[in-house]
Amino acid sequence: MKTIQYTFIGPIRQAITMANLPLKGALRDEDLEIIQEAGILLKNDKIHQIGSYWDIFPEAQSIGAEMVNLKTDFVAMPGIVDCHTHICFAGSRAQDYAMRNAGKSYLEIAKSGGGIWESVTQTRKASLEKLAQLTAQRANRHLKDGITTIEVKSGYGLSVEEELKMLRAIQLAGESTEGDLIATCLAAHIRPRDFEGNQREYLKKISDELFPILKSENLTNRVDAFIEDTAFSAEDIQNYFEKAKALGFDIVVHADQFHVGGSQVAMDFGAMSADHLEASTEKEIATLANSDTIPVALPGASLGLGVGFTPARKLLDAGASLAIGSDWNPGSAPMGDLLMQASVLGTFQKLSNLEVLAGITFRAAAALGLTDRGSLSSGQLADIILFPTADYREITYQQGRLKPSMVWKRGERV
Ligand SMILES: [Zn+2]
Repeated sequence: MKTIQYTFIGPIRQAITMANLPLKGALRDEDLEIIQEAGILLKNDKIHQIGSYWDIFPEAQSIGAEMVNLKTDFVAMPGIVDCHTHICFAGSRAQDYAMRNAGKSYLEIAKSGGGIWESVTQTRKASLEKLAQLTAQRANRHLKDGITTIEVKSGYGLSVEEELKMLRAIQLAGESTEGDLIATCLAAHIRPRDFEGNQREYLKKISDELFPILKSENLTNRVDAFIEDTAFSAEDIQNYFEKAKALGFDIVVHADQFHVGGSQVAMDFGAMSADHLEASTEKEIATLANSDTIPVALPGASLGLGVGFTPARKLLDAGASLAIGSDWNPGSAPMGDLLMQASVLGTFQKLSNLEVLAGITFRAAAALGLTDRGSLSSGQLADIILFPTADYREITYQQGRLKPSMVWKRGERV
């Protein structure tokens, strides 16, 4: 029989619960629930109770909870969720970055051996174990920054065998980090150069041969595709997504990054999320607002490429949800600091503190189809982070410089 372990954390100067907030639409800071002098009672991996420290204290004491007494000021918030990363990769693309900043075009970089294909080459060379190790290292860096749930895409393998290697590496990496890794199959990243056939033939091979193995090995239940002029067209992807849906996979789309089109595909297939959207116009914004697909902004890609941000303000004002992911990848978003990126997005897009924090907590969890995390309330996973400050607004104000000094993942101190 499993023993019950209680832990009581407090008193916490401010606990921002992120509870009882709408999934969609603009949010005002006044709507944020802040519990002053809060206590959080954990029961194993879940939050058992949250409220006033002194209200819960007698119960915590009587059940013999382990007491975590905080002697200085802290702000507690739910563990951060990064709903979009590509952290399973080998190699660096520092050369691409330098060439891009020196004014070289996408095509010139690709011709000199850069671009996604360079990451594919490096990643294919790495063993499964090496990839797992690299992925776990990056996940652990994220975890230290308070990111307790991390989505990780494949997409640098681009053959049945190499995509399998990546997804098995992500699964293996999950054993070397206390963070939760949520794998996504992005075999539809680009058509690999060494595939003899067109876009649709490549996708057919992947869906015929890879999809059944993903199911039988339980490697992922999410299928993503890059809809873009340089990758796959809306027409190319129809059969692929139909097959994925028929097998029960959740759909995700890299949409409207440079050209519009992808977000409509996402909505047509009832995708969990449409990610990027830098090029979305009023039309896409309005339709996204009327759908259940969650828009995901990826400010790290804008900062890496030196292009404009996702129209986050317009999306929220139109009534859409908004999650914010890091897009951490070796090409366009090498920084991988989600809190910094989300804070800066807030500055440029005029987002309230609450909108920024919602985008990296419960709204990001919803983009992954997860309802057991993203807020501090009883029954939720005990994914809790504590910042050494007395005012929650310092978190975005310091633009990512302020890091949490304590992280709990599923009730365990990391
Ligand atoms: Zn991406």
